[in-house]
Amino acid sequence: MIPAVLPTYNRAPLAFVKGEGSWLIAEDGSRYLDLGAGIAVNALGHAHPALVKAISDQAAKLWHVSNLYRIPEQEKLAEMLVDKTFADTVFFTNSGTEAAELAIKMARKYHYTNNQPERIQIIAFEGAFHGRSTGAIAAAGSEKMVKGFGPLMPGFTLLPWGDHDALRAALTNQTCAVIIEPVQGEGGIRAVPDQCLKGLRDLCDETGTLLIFDEVQCGMGRTGKLFAHEWSGITPDIMMVAKGIGGGFPLGAVLATEAAAKGMVAGSHGSTYGGNPLGCTVGAAVMEIVSDDAFLDAVSRKSAQFRQGLEGLVAAHPQVFEAVRGQGLILGLKCKASNLDIVKAGYAEHLLSVPAADNVLRLLPALNIEETEISEALARLDRTATRIEASL
Ligand code: PLP
Repeated sequence: MIPAVLPTYNRAPLAFVKGEGSWLIAEDGSRYLDLGAGIAVNALGHAHPALVKAISDQAAKLWHVSNLYRIPEQEKLAEMLVDKTFADTVFFTNSGTEAAELAIKMARKYHYTNNQPERIQIIAFEGAFHGRSTGAIAAAGSEKMVKGFGPLMPGFTLLPWGDHDALRAALTNQTCAVIIEPVQGEGGIRAVPDQCLKGLRDLCDETGTLLIFDEVQCGMGRTGKLFAHEWSGITPDIMMVAKGIGGGFPLGAVLATEAAAKGMVAGSHGSTYGGNPLGCTVGAAVMEIVSDDAFLDAVSRKSAQFRQGLEGLVAAHPQVFEAVRGQGLILGLKCKASNLDIVKAGYAEHLLSVPAADNVLRLLPALNIEETEISEALARLDRTATRIEASL
């Protein structure tokens, strides 16, 4: 019999009743060190006092009014994002998938408005993940996501990741935009080298193609800059944000330059919930903390500590781990043993991690994880690897 919850996930037999910082507390009271942070969502860990206060205070005042009215909390968060980024304007969504939909629509509308309606083709990359809508799965293409769901939204060209010649050849006078994650998350924590992002920006400029960055997973401080592309010194035309921006409250955003957004006039897009007072109040509380330079520097310091420890684990457990990947606190261990087995073995050590494609173990802790907790995580990963070795 089908369960009451549609069975689209293979869930671990664990349920949590409480969270405190980087720890999750199970039904039986046992504590788990959380290196998944709800898949890069709980940027400030669980039950951060500033976020609890922000959401509680706002919940007592006003949750939702709809976008029929001005929303001062939305305007405040939009201004914070505009201040700190390349963007001139922001649209708020409830998720990364909805941000992907708007990014695609905005890019197509840009060319339509520029009297080039034939420019509809969007170049995306194998191994990418942009969400689960029919547009977002067309932009990723992996068999498990698309099989049986056709017809897919037309107008996407999928290229191998890192193939510069294929990219050059694919850019035609019908190309609308290139969409790419500066650090691929689900695809196995693959960071696009800065040089390649710069080259991509140049190619887009030469051909009048819009550049869309999907920073849903790698943005909001996760790499040690507010947004991952900042390391490369170049900027996109459109950027998708979600996950960390709400710290656990469902919130996403599309950021754009004035030029890229020029077709998006009244009536061209909308959302009932997107940008409501409750979500934007939490988003502003997250932004206040995460966009602070000292906070971002601490992410880089913690990353250095974590990476060094992980390199040690790769050396100590060559049958289990192969290499360290990633940047900041979006880290991956390329595994020799099965990443799924390692995630499961971690449960016995009360350690939570997330699998990714390419047999990678994803480590996406809260950005405010303590140094002692990183040491504890490394010790638990070490014991997890020893368990795996014993089973080989
Ligand atoms: N883009 C990236 C890079 C993601 O990692 C995800 C989710 O994992 C999405 C888009 C989709 O976001 P959501 O699940 O909030 O719809």
